Amino acid sequence: MQNQSNLEVVRVRHPLKFRLLRVTRVETLSSALVRVTLTGDLSDFVSASFDDHVKVFFPAPGEDKPALPSLGPDGIAFPDGVERPAARDYTPRRFDNNANELDLEFALHEAGPATAWAAQAKPGQYLGVGGPRGSMVIPTGFDWHLLVGDETALPAIQRRLSELPSGARVAVVVEVANRAARIALPTEADLYATWVYRDELEGEQAEQAAQPLVDALGEVWLPPGEGYVWAAGEASAIRAVRAYLCNDRGVDKKRIRASAYWRRGAQAAHETIDD
Ligand SMILES: Cc1cc2nc3c(=O)[nH]c(=O)nc-3n(C[C@H](O)[C@H](O)[C@H](O)COP(=O)(O)OP(=O)(O)OC[C@H]3O[C@@H](n4cnc5c(N)ncnc54)[C@H](O)[C@@H]3O)c2cc1C
Repeated sequence: MQNQSNLEVVRVRHPLKFRLLRVTRVETLSSALVRVTLTGDLSDFVSASFDDHVKVFFPAPGEDKPALPSLGPDGIAFPDGVERPAARDYTPRRFDNNANELDLEFALHEAGPATAWAAQAKPGQYLGVGGPRGSMVIPTGFDWHLLVGDETALPAIQRRLSELPSGARVAVVVEVANRAARIALPTEADLYATWVYRDELEGEQAEQAAQPLVDALGEVWLPPGEGYVWAAGEASAIRAVRAYLCNDRGVDKKRIRASAYWRRGAQAAHETIDD
């Protein structure tokens, strides 16, 4: 069993920087996930946690580069007369300070500036990237880890799996559109993965957006000892996941980090889910 003092979640702040980055590679990981590799001055890019996010700025229609803000004495400002570009949050899936590379992975869905950009992404195009401004560093030394989410959580889940050491016990529960949206989850850790496919759901499960993840979690055994739960995805689904785990499965509220990565019917929604 772990010593509790090694298990504190630590908040770290980073100096805010905005960068103009160029696409060098575009890879299709699944029917619903596109990985984009960016390059530029990334020598001092810092991302201390698997669930960090950067603000991605997209070029305005007809432009090849996005307008970028700068950080002045009065905070973040765009140049006079420049319209604010569309901006959305994405997870730094992988970065390499020496090779000046940053990978982002875009879940494709029906419509929105980010998904439309990702669906047409090509080498030579430009994106703006701001941050990360800070990190919540969750120790890897828990007796067990549970990672829950949908397509938008897959970049963070993959990054977490890549950093968990051999011998760590981790359960992953992911809901995706269909079998073609499933990806490989390489890890040194001892992994138990459950995939839920939306197109195979029936009855009540198919009608209630929050139900499939909760039902799948009902089949997951939580080992004894000190555990940590991380969950991200659609707001109502993740709210239900947190309520179920804390109320029905005895997870301590201090041992769960739950975030809305999007909200049905809202643009660019982000919320930490607590009481
Ligand atoms: C901290 C953080 C990290 C994130 N990391 C990632 C990441 O690494 N990869 C990733 O793909 N996403 C990630 N997201 C989610 C992403 O920012 C949102 O899905 C975003 O809204 C997409 O922007 P858009 O322009 O495509 O759609 P928007 O213009 O924001 O929304 C348009 C419509 O699409 C709906 N919508 C938005 N996202 C989805 C979705 N995934 N599925 C179905 N409908 C949707 C909205 O409800 C809205 O009705 C992250 C979000 C946060 C807060």
